[in-house]
Amino acid sequence: MNTKQRAISKDTFGLSGQIALLTGASSGIGRACALALGCAGVKVVINHLPEASNEAAKVCQEIEDVGGDAFAYAADVSNEAQVAAMFAEMVARFGTLHILVNNAGIESSAKFQEMTLSQWQKVIDVNLTGMFLCSREAIREFLRRGAQPDVSQASGKIICMSSVHQEIPWAFEANYAASKGGVDLLMRSLAQEFAPQKIRVNAVAPGAIRTPINRSAWRTEEAMKNLLDLIPYKRIGEPDDIAQAVLWLASDLSDYMNGATMFVDGAMSAYPAFRGAG
Ligand code: NAD
Repeated sequence: MNTKQRAISKDTFGLSGQIALLTGASSGIGRACALALGCAGVKVVINHLPEASNEAAKVCQEIEDVGGDAFAYAADVSNEAQVAAMFAEMVARFGTLHILVNNAGIESSAKFQEMTLSQWQKVIDVNLTGMFLCSREAIREFLRRGAQPDVSQASGKIICMSSVHQEIPWAFEANYAASKGGVDLLMRSLAQEFAPQKIRVNAVAPGAIRTPINRSAWRTEEAMKNLLDLIPYKRIGEPDDIAQAVLWLASDLSDYMNGATMFVDGAMSAYPAFRGAG
């Protein structure tokens, strides 16, 4: 738990007592979002892969250390039965759900002519089908429970972790870019379909954030220099930068925000290569 997280008060975002499920929350951005929500008084389900059980347990411990409540659950977000069982366990232990953070994601880079079907399929399965399966379970629970105006103005909130690559094409990562382009229209279609039920669905599109998924892009001095050429704000993003946006999107402070993507990218999506070119 760092000082930025500890500075989050239970009152600032009015989220205390709400229940959140975050996918892929044992590391990186998901972990930072879980800690931030935990500090804001949210009860948190930490979804993770079985091989990350120790890391997930540590995230739960950190939340409990600041007086919060969390449990970890191993499930592959692309597996329908495992996702259904995870949501059933969440309802059994916490009673319901208010906030879903669809965060789990992977990359699998290849020259397009050499990309295998399984490389294509795996990325689509985790990054896009995983969001479909978890969002469907969340929406079923929001509709079952109905409005709780004393808890939140919205009947439920879904936040999808997209990427600047929902907009920026990405050579050698066609599977990833296609999955995030899909996330954009999945998110907007759900926002349109469920706005009448007061369910809000939004996305965050991170730029380059210092996490395990993109270690090769920041690990060496040379890689970092090349990366910073793409970021007008001239620093790499940190997981907390994304967690702050997620906190706001989960809270009633953003109640009129629905069907939107927040780009949190140090202006990476502002086409920096065009600066001074015309
Ligand atoms: P990360 O690798 O630390 O996090 C991804 C998490 O997803 C891991 O904890 C991993 O175990 C989990 N995961 C993978 N497959 C899973 C599955 N089938 N079921 C459940 N969990 C699974 O990297 P991160 O950067 O924190 O990535 C989080 C999200 O942010 C991803 O959706 C990623 O695409 C997105 N994103 C990251 C960046 C960045 O620069 N780091 C930029 C844009 C978008």
